[in-house]
Amino acid sequence: MASLGSGSLESLRERNRRQLLDALRRRGSASRAELARLTGLSRSTVSTLASELQASGLVVEREPDERVSQQGRPPTLLTLDRSAGLVLGIDFGHEHVHVAIADLSRTIIAERTASLDVDRSAARALDIAVQLAGEVLAAADVESDRVLGAGVGLSGPIDVASGTVHSGKILPGWAGVRPADELAARLGLHVHLDNDANLGALAEVTLGAGIGARDAIYLMVSGGVGAGLILGGELYRGSGGTAGELGHMLVDESGPICRCGNRGCLEMMAGGRAIIALLRSSHGADLTLDEVMALADEGDSGARRAIADAGRVLGGSIAALVNAFNPELVIVGGVVSAADDVLLDPLREAVDRYAIPSAAADVRITRGVLGERAEVLGALELAVRQSDVAAPAASGTVG
Ligand SMILES: [Zn+2]
Repeated sequence: MASLGSGSLESLRERNRRQLLDALRRRGSASRAELARLTGLSRSTVSTLASELQASGLVVEREPDERVSQQGRPPTLLTLDRSAGLVLGIDFGHEHVHVAIADLSRTIIAERTASLDVDRSAARALDIAVQLAGEVLAAADVESDRVLGAGVGLSGPIDVASGTVHSGKILPGWAGVRPADELAARLGLHVHLDNDANLGALAEVTLGAGIGARDAIYLMVSGGVGAGLILGGELYRGSGGTAGELGHMLVDESGPICRCGNRGCLEMMAGGRAIIALLRSSHGADLTLDEVMALADEGDSGARRAIADAGRVLGGSIAALVNAFNPELVIVGGVVSAADDVLLDPLREAVDRYAIPSAAADVRITRGVLGERAEVLGALELAVRQSDVAAPAASGTVG
């Protein structure tokens, strides 16, 4: 250290400080010991830096949560103060818009949801998203200049580079629309767009059923079917951004024509709309997916059979992914996942049957725990990961 001039010392301190802030931003909250492990800094350096950041108000202590060990006094957790910034999350489902604002510990401060036909009208969906964003900002009582950025999820194949929807066939109402640019202009924020299943995957491995998983598949079964891949601890988007489009994987060449133009895609055979279609003649022509889920919950044998058969078909496709990627975890989310083992048991059996035994033995298949909030939480997570919390403070607030 003696050979370093004061300028180098300053830059070393600054680098350590940024590392610590970055670790806190990525984790949401962490003990001093966890921060030392995450950053590779010594315990004493972490303690000194943390005290300085606490004095500046950028970092605060919070009550330990359920992650702590059973024995002894749980360690105090550090988290970024609300003044470090907030993020906005917007999730466009097929039939809803969900908007939330959260601090950097991932605590949601306010959220709003509206029902509408998102797929058919991008203009109206964007109007409503902007209106709900205004409402959550007002409810959280913050100025928009304290919002670091927005994450946005959309149920379609996204070209991450251009911020557009890849295929007009899958989301006809969004063809030619540039949702990221449009929202950035109207909200005055940096906007990061991604596929909704990718965001569900991000949320479940950060906050949900797969915390810390390095290789995981998130399967989202709602009206359609989507998937997000976490490989080596990071979201895998592929060369153009459409990796994980599992819903349009071929299952039956002579199956029904899909909205993508092919036949017998997985979502035509095992998505929520396929489950409803199976039950229409026995349970009524205007059956909804929510009604199917309620019937299954009440023990209706037809509804349970339709969901179980979907699970078996999904398991066949998941087995192929299990062979290809050898994940440790498959997390099943989306509306249909509420059926729990009615869906998951046949899915597990199919994976055991069709995947190679060693890969099947490595994988655990579990239900997501974030429910209908998974995608909006993923949108918030995306915004946090893309924002640079260390930057504003570096201009002088902290030593
Ligand atoms: Zn298709």
